[in-house]
Amino acid sequence: MSLDIQYIRSQFPILNREVNGKPLVYFDNGATSQKPKVVLDILNEYYEKYNANVHRGIHTLSQEATDLMEESRRKIQAFINAKHDHEVIFTRGTTESINLVANTIGQLLTADDEIIITEIEHHSNIVPWQLVTQRTGAKLKYIPLTAEGTLDIDKLDDLLTDKTKLVCVNQVSNALGVVNPIETIIEKAHAKGAWVLIDGAQSVPHTKIDVQALDADFLAFSGHKMYGPTGIGILYGKEEILNQLPPFHGGGEMIKDVTMEVSTYACLPFKFEAGTPDVAGIIGLGAAVDFINEIGIDAIHAYEDELVEYTIERLSEFEEVEIYAKDAKHAGAVSFNLKLDGVHSSDVGMILDKKGIAVRTGHHCAQPIMHHFGIPGTVRASFGIYNTKEEVDIFIDGLKTAIRMLG
Ligand code: PLP
Repeated sequence: MSLDIQYIRSQFPILNREVNGKPLVYFDNGATSQKPKVVLDILNEYYEKYNANVHRGIHTLSQEATDLMEESRRKIQAFINAKHDHEVIFTRGTTESINLVANTIGQLLTADDEIIITEIEHHSNIVPWQLVTQRTGAKLKYIPLTAEGTLDIDKLDDLLTDKTKLVCVNQVSNALGVVNPIETIIEKAHAKGAWVLIDGAQSVPHTKIDVQALDADFLAFSGHKMYGPTGIGILYGKEEILNQLPPFHGGGEMIKDVTMEVSTYACLPFKFEAGTPDVAGIIGLGAAVDFINEIGIDAIHAYEDELVEYTIERLSEFEEVEIYAKDAKHAGAVSFNLKLDGVHSSDVGMILDKKGIAVRTGHHCAQPIMHHFGIPGTVRASFGIYNTKEEVDIFIDGLKTAIRMLG
């Protein structure tokens, strides 16, 4: 089925604007996606018609706001095929979701335990584990990269031991766009009795995720990278695991009973949702899920794969361009540099910006990958469902200018 991309584009008001006198070409979707009208409208509608605090009001507005919020939770449950809606916890984003797991599991860790991460992670799936292992004395290990820039998955067998409590890995690398073999990682980790946390920040917007089929123990992702509002994210966790974890934040909503001496805690998901949630953001994320479902995540995946393939093909025309992990499977993004002396990725980004083209440059919050390649950063083009091959051609023309100016 072919998609009506012009119709899809018409739903994103920001795509009508110009940047530096040129039509905007937005290739920075890995950082954050643009928002369709349905999401923008529902945020307004919420504040105009339903604004009230949730879960504690007897009055109509509070009940309506609560119903809308819980309807969003069920939409997200269905979207990732979680078994129960209470396995879907609202957070501020992937970063907070991972910190939730690190800080709660951290209360159970001893110096005898081990956590495995990888060299291809975003800082938000590295630093929380450094903090928690430093605090507990647990050992932090990592799966290294191959020379090409993909995970050296053969090393996992040696890293996994009976002491491994958790393996944390992203499904798609934000810095390189590379797809990681999470199915193999989950299978091997489970065989050793370890849990697995999947950082889905760069995969959930681009590919179908079924947490039950994957048998993922945790999945973290951000609303703002999947056409939803900023400030809202998800932690999925298996019920039986979440029930074993202590609370994260303390405060209202997450308790059953409080005395001056001691508190007991609410059931899932509220045990992990202290304080007033981002109700508008949650409802907005529900609308973003509807938007994705209307197009179909498989259709989005297939279309974006074509864009990535076309971009790699066009970038390969230049002998001055080095594409990282070029032959690996990619999803939604391509990372490259110009092999020109003294040229930094930001030089390329600035020239493209003058032509209205938004790309991300620098280390992409993944400095260990940059250390691996011995570079300060890359240029990353990352795609959403509204991008087109014509835009890739404009980007390639911009790159020709950059090569001419910087060469
Ligand atoms: N993990 C990955 C792979 C990411 O790409 C990002 C953001 O770029 C994050 C985690 C952090 O997401 P957020 O800033 O929305 O918490």
